[in-house]
Amino acid sequence: MGIAKKEAGVCLSCGKKTNGAPAKPDIVIHAARKIRSLLKMRPSHTVACAACMQKCAEKRGKFEKKTRDYRAAALVFFLLLVGGSVFYGNLELPVIIAAVLGALFIAALSYAYYFPSFEAEK
Ligand SMILES: [Zn+2]
Repeated sequence: MGIAKKEAGVCLSCGKKTNGAPAKPDIVIHAARKIRSLLKMRPSHTVACAACMQKCAEKRGKFEKKTRDYRAAALVFFLLLVGGSVFYGNLELPVIIAAVLGALFIAALSYAYYFPSFEAEK
């Protein structure tokens, strides 16, 4: 784990144009870039400046914790629904589909806390 090489961009936290660690391209960053290019907006490079690095790392940590929490909740939901159906002997395809969709929905809720990572690629 380390901080990526500094690049010019806009700090995600304080909004200043500055040099900072670039956001690690993940599914959200890629989607945001795609949307910006579709809207013909100038590409903006998201970075974390040195002053905000600590705050950004904390927010990322919070998002990662939420991701784990929501995944655990999704698993519990899935197991309760499927396990309950097995217990009552009425496990049917619609129950499994509902359990999977419900679990995916719960897991996706953690993205309400989304914050990119500014750590260097390993
Ligand atoms: Zn900043």
